[in-house]
Amino acid sequence: MMREPARDTPILAEVDVLVAGGGVAGIGAAVAAVRGGARVLLLERLAFLGGTATAVTLGGFCGMLRAANGEMHPVIGGLWTELEARARHIDALGPLRIHPTVRGVHGLSYDPERMKALFDDWLAAEGVAVLTEALVAGVARDGRRITAVFVETKGGRHAIRATSVIDATGDADLAARAGCGFQLGEAGQTQHASAMFRMAPVDRAAFASITRAEQDARMEAAVAAGLALPRTTLAIYPGLDGVGMHLNATRVQQPDGRSFDWTDPWQRAAAEREGRRQVALYEQAARDHLPGFGQARVSSIGAQLGIRESRLVEGDETLTEDDVMGGVRGPTRIACTAWPVEDHAPGRSTIWRPLPDGFSYGIPFGSLVAMGLDNLLVAGRCLSASHTAQASARVTAPCLAMGQAAGTAAAMAGDGGVRVDIAALQSRLRLDGVILDP
Ligand SMILES: Cc1cc2nc3c(=O)[nH]c(=O)nc-3n(C[C@H](O)[C@H](O)[C@H](O)COP(=O)(O)OP(=O)(O)OC[C@H]3O[C@@H](n4cnc5c(N)ncnc54)[C@H](O)[C@@H]3O)c2cc1C
Repeated sequence: MMREPARDTPILAEVDVLVAGGGVAGIGAAVAAVRGGARVLLLERLAFLGGTATAVTLGGFCGMLRAANGEMHPVIGGLWTELEARARHIDALGPLRIHPTVRGVHGLSYDPERMKALFDDWLAAEGVAVLTEALVAGVARDGRRITAVFVETKGGRHAIRATSVIDATGDADLAARAGCGFQLGEAGQTQHASAMFRMAPVDRAAFASITRAEQDARMEAAVAAGLALPRTTLAIYPGLDGVGMHLNATRVQQPDGRSFDWTDPWQRAAAEREGRRQVALYEQAARDHLPGFGQARVSSIGAQLGIRESRLVEGDETLTEDDVMGGVRGPTRIACTAWPVEDHAPGRSTIWRPLPDGFSYGIPFGSLVAMGLDNLLVAGRCLSASHTAQASARVTAPCLAMGQAAGTAAAMAGDGGVRVDIAALQSRLRLDGVILDP
């Protein structure tokens, strides 16, 4: 251990609401807070917004619909509806895909590069101050309140003072530095991560000639032929470029099958290398075993590894597996979704557990309220949830909805703390189009 010298840190800004992390949850939080009349600053460590959705890239936006009697119905509303309309307007969305066999699984393909510009334009139009390339590195506390957040930038270390703070870093970096309790997986085992990539050119008609079951069988055949693929249930979707395919294929885990510890910098670095190693492996598997891929090569790899689950904050309430599978829409819900439990557990398959037909569940406000602090909310994939419940709630549309709820609450909070009147919060969210009774 070394003791750092004490120092004076310049104050960069004083705001009502500070949002850490510019993924979909942070974007939802910032827009909702500024619309609630707050002065808002959004901090993002990367050079662009969107988080996992743009830095890792996904097959599609998910979690905005529920299945009932063979049909799909909206379950999110609010800012999600607005984001979808904005993305359509700039031709950044592709078709909605519905999984042929697993109930409730759907995805709306999108162009991640256009989404980066969309997020820039949207937040500028709303009047959100955005500071990219700003890493949240520390927190000052006075009892139960956060009094300042420290960021590292190219210009050095700065302090930001805020009345309310929202941690939307995905990894709960800010909450952890504030001393909040958190859980890291179930007995240390988190959902496995994936390095996402694209291949082009693909003969899409040839690829479409095989079923999903045949695709899985061909990957098992690749394993039998000697390719050590850690996962054989791949999700492969057409990109919007007309020639490429997006592959959610890799399974980044330690050699003994355990997940990496996402709070350990050496393990994170090793995991990034392992992700790129696996991309090369799956490129070969696709070229040799999937129709249409014979002439294709890797055209891009996500800027970083896709981490599904890391720290989950201890909140006033915790979303549980029973809430999800039982379709519990409790009295403090601030968003709903119906995405299945999508379990990226050890083994070569992804395990899907769909909700019963027609079901959806509510995300309780207390799962966004960091236990033991008066002015800290969390939003997105680092919410207070059990390992299994998070495997459902973590997809993009509910993360955006959690952000909307957190931002709305933070704007309402003022000095009185973020435990706002729940009826008033729900009433505001309903007025803003959020679906709380799907
Ligand atoms: C491999 C993979 C595939 C997936 N597939 C899909 C899919 O097809 N459809 C779907 O809907 N969802 C999918 N998901 C889930 C979904 O993408 C994410 O869970 C969701 O986007 C999380 O949003 P978020 O805003 O909570 O967190 P993130 O997207 O992780 O955003 C957090 C942001 O905070 C920033 N940040 C982190 N630490 C700091 C710090 N210390 N200081 C400043 N900034 C910081 C990050 O750079 C990032 O921009 C997938 C996830 C993974 C990993």
